[in-house]
Amino acid sequence: MDYIHCPVCGNQSKLKYKLKFNVYKCQQCGLYTSDAEFDLSFQSSLELESREIGLKKLRFENFEAIVKALKAFKGDETRNLKGLEIGSGNGWWLKVCQENNIGCIGIEPEKSHQVYHQKNGLNIHYGFYPDLNIERAKGFDFIIFNDVFEHIKDLDKLLISLKKDLNDGGLLIINLPMSDGFFYKTAQLLYKIGIKSFMDRLWQFNFHSPHMNYFNQNNLELLLTKRGFLKTANINLKSLDISTSKERIKADKDVSKLKAMILATGLRVLKPVILASPSDIRVFFFKNQL
Ligand SMILES: [Zn+2]
Repeated sequence: MDYIHCPVCGNQSKLKYKLKFNVYKCQQCGLYTSDAEFDLSFQSSLELESREIGLKKLRFENFEAIVKALKAFKGDETRNLKGLEIGSGNGWWLKVCQENNIGCIGIEPEKSHQVYHQKNGLNIHYGFYPDLNIERAKGFDFIIFNDVFEHIKDLDKLLISLKKDLNDGGLLIINLPMSDGFFYKTAQLLYKIGIKSFMDRLWQFNFHSPHMNYFNQNNLELLLTKRGFLKTANINLKSLDISTSKERIKADKDVSKLKAMILATGLRVLKPVILASPSDIRVFFFKNQL
């Protein structure tokens, strides 16, 4: 197939990259869409432990920045907020909420982090949104996606449920990687000279839950304003902590020790360029209007 329909604007998306899966680019809104599938066996080549060391500090810093913005929106009522995180993974967002007295429950399909969830008293329901039955009375004050929105294939079904599950004025918070950031641009450049592995890695095509879409600010806003969400704010998040980048790269089983060292050094050298480029990760706040 050379063309598909863009899930955001309905125009033609043209085959752009031939990787482990195909990637299409919308000629109108610039959205990148893959034809990847979610692998329900949950098998992937990721080494959980070293990934955790590398990411934890960075993630907690980013989550604190999101909490600060959430408090700016909701004022002092955050203690009484009813929040929902879709795709809680390791549970770090819920942990940060707990530390900040913000009420939030989670939905997560995998049980691989269940021990951490239980040990920390995190309220996580195991299953898929929106099919899972959870307490929905009166709607949520906020629903958050942390590195999850780009993994969802059926955006129509998702957005209909989100509108129903958020109360009037409730916040939809989406934290995701951007297609106009430094890493995506670098992967594009490498693809052009015949190195496809970086692009495969960015799309997480070797993991059981690959990316389905890669958004930029404009097409994400287009998707949500069309569904009656009002854009309110978006902020940059840090995508790179040089001090732990070696562990992050090491977490990928396909990368040898030597290659990991070279990559980590390269990232250190490129740090000023990366920091001066458009952000690789942003968080968006949209208001639900009934
Ligand atoms: Zn489009």
